[in-house]
Amino acid sequence: MPPLASTSLTGAATVTRHLPALPRRPVEAERGDAAPRVHISYWCSNGHETSPSFAEEAGLAVPEIWDCPRCGLPAGQDQADPPAANHNAPYKTHLAYVKERRSETDGQAILDEALQSLRDRGLIR
Ligand SMILES: [Zn+2]
Repeated sequence: MPPLASTSLTGAATVTRHLPALPRRPVEAERGDAAPRVHISYWCSNGHETSPSFAEEAGLAVPEIWDCPRCGLPAGQDQADPPAANHNAPYKTHLAYVKERRSETDGQAILDEALQSLRDRGLIR
């Protein structure tokens, strides 16, 4: 979601117009439009910075750790001291997860099946 212009609704408390003919939008969208957002920077141990934004509201609890969207390592708010790369959930590629669940033989069978299906549909030779 793009950042919102934050001050345009200053004084919105005085807006009391009634628009009964309009369909109600979902509550979530209404809150999203009005809520100012805070951007928090996180850094992972590979030096990647990410800045997710959070709706600024009472009781906002910003997470201490954010998963780096580029490499999957945990990222923290202290650039000089990013969290350790590896606690319980090391980053794995999708393929690594698949390999955990499937043996090589399974993989070959699935691949053959997929290739055959593509051949049957004339998509590959
Ligand atoms: Zn990273």
